[in-house]
Amino acid sequence: MICVLFGPPGSGKGTQAEMITQALGVPHVSTGELLRAEAATGTALGHEVAPVLEAGGLVPDAVIEHLLGRRLEAPDAAAGAILDGYPRTVPQARDLDGRLATAGRRVDVVLVLEVGEPTLMERLNSRAAEQHRADDNPASIAERLAEHRLLTEPVLDYYRSEGVPVREVDGTGDIHAVHRRVLQALSSAGFRTSD
Ligand code: ADP
Repeated sequence: MICVLFGPPGSGKGTQAEMITQALGVPHVSTGELLRAEAATGTALGHEVAPVLEAGGLVPDAVIEHLLGRRLEAPDAAAGAILDGYPRTVPQARDLDGRLATAGRRVDVVLVLEVGEPTLMERLNSRAAEQHRADDNPASIAERLAEHRLLTEPVLDYYRSEGVPVREVDGTGDIHAVHRRVLQALSSAGFRTSD
């Protein structure tokens, strides 16, 4: 089961992904978290990506593909994964399809968390105050939202044209209400969940 969780920065992908890992029995794979962990451990790759993360730019595809490939080969991902923050561009989506096809797999469903920009800004600004993530500063937030509109939204058209089920979910309001909508969307797309 490969589920792509899609939505702009601040739409709640990380929170919802954590909540559905159990329901789907597959791990949450966040490229943002993989990159932050790499930056925190101070490897050569970490030094390369840290300034990109801080500025809110996109890390080169080759780096992402390396980290993601390694993560999807881990035993716990044999049954699938909930992908959060990836694919973020059409070339990344094509690369993922190729990688999955060699293993006889495919993206099964794309869930889109829909949240308007004023709410996104509010959420990202309050996360900046609470979590001190290096990229939750005004310039980086603006960059990530613009990048999402320009480079990431076309990924949805790509999946639609490939015939992958794409389900929109209202991402506003209480996190438990959003979770229930996510579960409904999964079940309406024909996936059985365990809660
Ligand atoms: P957000 O969705 O709030 O921007 P993420 O944790 O998904 O947060 O990503 C944080 C940063 O990690 C991004 O701004 C970008 O620099 C980098 N990143 C994450 N995923 C990718 C990706 N698939 N391709 C390129 N860069 C990425």
